[in-house]
Amino acid sequence: MSILVLGGAGYIGSHTVYALKEAGEDVVIIDNLETGHIEAVHPDARFYEGDIRNRTFLDSVFEKEKDIKAVIHFAANSLVGESMVNPLKYYDNNLCGTKVLLESMLAHDIKKIVFSSTAATYGEPERVPILETDRTEPTNTYGETKLSMEKMFKWTDKAHGLKYVSLRYFNACGAHESGMIGEAHNPETHLIPLILQVPLGKREAISVFGNDYDTKDGTCIRDYIHVTDLAQAHILAVKYLLEGNDSNIFNLGNGVGFTVNEVIETARKVTGKEIKAIMAERRAGDPAQLIASSEKARTVLGWNPQHADLEEIIASAWKWHSTHPNGYAK
Ligand code: UDP
Repeated sequence: MSILVLGGAGYIGSHTVYALKEAGEDVVIIDNLETGHIEAVHPDARFYEGDIRNRTFLDSVFEKEKDIKAVIHFAANSLVGESMVNPLKYYDNNLCGTKVLLESMLAHDIKKIVFSSTAATYGEPERVPILETDRTEPTNTYGETKLSMEKMFKWTDKAHGLKYVSLRYFNACGAHESGMIGEAHNPETHLIPLILQVPLGKREAISVFGNDYDTKDGTCIRDYIHVTDLAQAHILAVKYLLEGNDSNIFNLGNGVGFTVNEVIETARKVTGKEIKAIMAERRAGDPAQLIASSEKARTVLGWNPQHADLEEIIASAWKWHSTHPNGYAK
C-alpha cells in the first residue's frame, strides 16, 4: 500500500513525508517545485515532478503507482498577502487544481483524501478557542479558496462517496529534529523565521504589525503548532479514513495563544541574542487572536501534540535556520 503526497517538497508536506517514512509507509510524492524544494524530497520516496492541474500527468502517476490507497494534499498556494493582490492565481491553483485532482482520483477509484485547510477559513473569530462548528467567514482570498475546497470535497463525497479529512492548521512552525528539513519560503512572510533573520544578520529588526489590538500587550495572539505534530495528525487522519470512518474536519493547534511580543521575547531567550523590534502598522486582514480548540482531533483521531512548548518550537526552528541561513540554497 502506498500513500500519495501532493506537495511533498513543501514545508508541511516534507515533514509529513518524513513522518510517514519513519512509520514505515511507502510514499509517492508529486510536486511542481514552484514553492517546494527538491532537497526537501525524502530520498526513499518515489518523486514525480508535475502539476496537479495537468490531468494527463496525474493520470499517468495513478496508472504507474497502482498501489495508492490514500492521498494527502498539500499542493496549494498559501500566502495571505499574495492572495489579496493575485486572487485568481489562488482560485486557479487551489480550486481548479483540486478539481482536476478529484476527477483523476475518481477515475482511478481512489476515494480517501486528507488535505490542508487553515484557521483562515474562520476569518475574525466569534470566540476563542475556536471550534470547528464556529462561523466561517474568511477575510482573505487564501482562506476563501480553502473553505471552497472543503465544500468541493463535501459535495463530491455526497455524489461519489469520496471520504475526506480537512485539517485546519493554526500557525505551523519549527523544524524536523534531524536538521535535514525546515521552513524555507521565498519571500518569507511568517513571524518566527523573520524574527530569526535578525540574529542571523539578515535583517536589522523585526517589525511588529500593530500594538493597539485588544490583547494583553496590544499585539496579535496566535496558536503556534510544531510542524512535526502537524505531520503526526496527517498520519492519524489517513488511518482514520482507511478504517472506514466518515468525512470530517479538525482544527490543529495547541489551544494556547502567544502574543507577537511574547514570541520575540522567547526567541531572544532561545538564541541568546539581542533582537531589535520596531512597531509597525497593522497588517490588513489580521484577526486580533486565533486560538484553536483541538479537542475534537484529540478525542476522535487520538492526536496528542508532543512539542507544545514555545521555547522548544523556536529552538528547533533556530537549529534549522542557523545551519541553513539561506534555506535550501547553497
Ligand atoms: N507578524 C508580525 N511581523 C511580521 C510577520 C508577522 O508582527 O514580520 C505578526 C502577524 O501580524 C500575526 C503573527 O505575527 O499576528 C503571525 O503571522 P504569520 O504571518 O506568521 O502567520 P498568520 O497568523 O498570518 O498565519
